[in-house]
Amino acid sequence: MKNFYDFIVIGAGISGCTFASSLNKRFSKDSILLIEHGRRLGGRATTRKSRKNKNLKFDHGLPSINFSNNVSKDILTLISPLIDSKKLVDISNDILMMDELGFLNDSYPKTKTYKSLPFMVDFCEEIINQSINPKKINFLFQTLVKSIHRKNELWNIEVNNGCILKSKYFILSSSLIAHPRCLEILDIRKLPLREAFNLGQDKIVDYLLQKTKKLTYLKRKIYILHVSNHAAVLNFNYKYLQIVFSKKIETNLNFERIIFQIQPDGTMVIVLHCVYVNKLIVIDSDNVIKSLFSLFINYPKFLDLILEASLIDTMDWRASQPLNNLLPKELQWSETSNIGFCGDWFNWRNCGSLESAMNSSIRLAQLLT
Ligand SMILES: Cc1cc2nc3c(=O)[nH]c(=O)nc-3n(C[C@H](O)[C@H](O)[C@H](O)COP(=O)(O)OP(=O)(O)OC[C@H]3O[C@@H](n4cnc5c(N)ncnc54)[C@H](O)[C@@H]3O)c2cc1C
Repeated sequence: MKNFYDFIVIGAGISGCTFASSLNKRFSKDSILLIEHGRRLGGRATTRKSRKNKNLKFDHGLPSINFSNNVSKDILTLISPLIDSKKLVDISNDILMMDELGFLNDSYPKTKTYKSLPFMVDFCEEIINQSINPKKINFLFQTLVKSIHRKNELWNIEVNNGCILKSKYFILSSSLIAHPRCLEILDIRKLPLREAFNLGQDKIVDYLLQKTKKLTYLKRKIYILHVSNHAAVLNFNYKYLQIVFSKKIETNLNFERIIFQIQPDGTMVIVLHCVYVNKLIVIDSDNVIKSLFSLFINYPKFLDLILEASLIDTMDWRASQPLNNLLPKELQWSETSNIGFCGDWFNWRNCGSLESAMNSSIRLAQLLT
């Protein structure tokens, strides 16, 4: 593996992939390396195999993709071929709401909500596939960036195996490495971006670091249940269904939404999302199933399924979505240090996290001349 690239990007989630693909369309000869802590593409929009049953695969992060009514032309250019080829499918008719009394209705706002097929991780892959010269986009998985230094106009990136990678331009697609939460989440001792700059050296970076410290995050815990009883799954009628719980249920139980998805082998995976800001109501596996049972008491087909369900996995997202104190887009690029930033920590008017992440990544690639 070579150790010099034109661009080094931290993160291979939707932002890193959108940036790499957009940049490659403009500068197809420039080499890019995406360094990713996880095992595969996707970041918070990734897919995983069950540890207990290797045949089961499910999305355990972002479950579906929403765009605002004013989605940008650039995003439309990226997603239209995927919609045409049915790799992104509209699931707005497969989403129901559960009111506080436990009754289901179809009042979920009929904005376009998509699911990436077969899995969320494929969305990132498809974005990368749209680049002009994919050979110039390289990946380094299961690699944690530990420290960053700028020396003789080059970026020196030290990763966890001690290797030092160099680049002319450096892009940060995750707020984590600039935010104090990274010390806990990534289990590192110092804030790598702060370490790379002396105060007063780069006004944009100073301001970005100061603003980033104030970012707060929504956290999520995901419970993954499996139903192996084929008869209960067949009787259920739905191959895919997402139910969004009422605000009252969310406040009382932290339950945000639940997703039922049939597996190729005829069994079913049920993914329950719990959302919280400060404290999660801790529930053990028995109580998750008991709580679901009492919520779906009006619906025998759901009860049959829940009775057959067993908990197979959990996932903690300790910074699942930025909540407030988002950053202005003027902080995306510093000419002084050849460093750029993209991701859902930037504020895009009326856009959700994922759309802001994509918009900021496309804009960053356009800023480079
Ligand atoms: C459960 C869940 C539900 C969500 N629901 C919604 C929703 O309904 N609507 C919505 O708009 N958004 C939602 N989101 C948020 C949405 O998923 C994110 O906004 C989006 O995926 C952000 O993509 P990103 O590429 O900016 O960041 P990420 O996906 O976080 O990518 C950054 C990547 O950088 C890597 N990384 C970080 N530090 C290092 C390091 N030091 N070294 C190497 N790699 C590093 C990380 O491993 C990560 O893969 C949800 C997220 C979760 C987890």
